Amino acid sequence: MSNRQLRITFPAAFFLIGLLVVCLIALFPGIEIVKAQKVNSNIVATINDNTWTEASFPVENFQAYTSPFGYRRSPTNPRNVQFHNGLDIAAPKGSYIRNWFTGTVIQLGDRGACGTYIIIESGEWQHSYCHMQGNVARLDGNLYLIDRGGGIKIAQGQQIPSGIRIGRIGMTGRTTGPHLHWVLKYKGEYVDPGAVLRQMYAVQSNDIPKT
Ligand SMILES: [Zn+2]
Repeated sequence: MSNRQLRITFPAAFFLIGLLVVCLIALFPGIEIVKAQKVNSNIVATINDNTWTEASFPVENFQAYTSPFGYRRSPTNPRNVQFHNGLDIAAPKGSYIRNWFTGTVIQLGDRGACGTYIIIESGEWQHSYCHMQGNVARLDGNLYLIDRGGGIKIAQGQQIPSGIRIGRIGMTGRTTGPHLHWVLKYKGEYVDPGAVLRQMYAVQSNDIPKT
């Protein structure tokens, strides 16, 4: 093929592919272009095993993993594809949520799809907990997450050890059933919480002395 032929063939091919994509979108309006999310898929394997020994499973009275991390069909409109940025862990309403890792409360809120939530920072990690019970209030100039029924009062900026109860499973925000929507980020990129839990189990089950 001569250079001149190549110069004509390549733009024509790109044009035809573009036309095909436009036609497909027009034919199937359910296809939604999902913005690519930054996902750190291999970080879990590269972290020193000792890191996981103090990590805590985030929910008491665990029932089931109801929706995994990653791209999925929308629960409300199955024709739409969406990015699920966390792991859904179902437990009876009122079950306690435990802090996954020692850190500092950097954000609290009670509006929007996430409902009542808390974000904790542990070094390069950020862990978020959505759909909790209670609400956020400002007292004496400080922001607090307050769940009276659960005996929870947590201040923004507070240090929280791993395994400590930080709230209870609720139905705040957009949710069809009681569960924790749990999100992990490492250096600003989403990480699959399922991969983290598997690594935690692997390390922590080795810690138990065999008799
Ligand atoms: Zn979720």
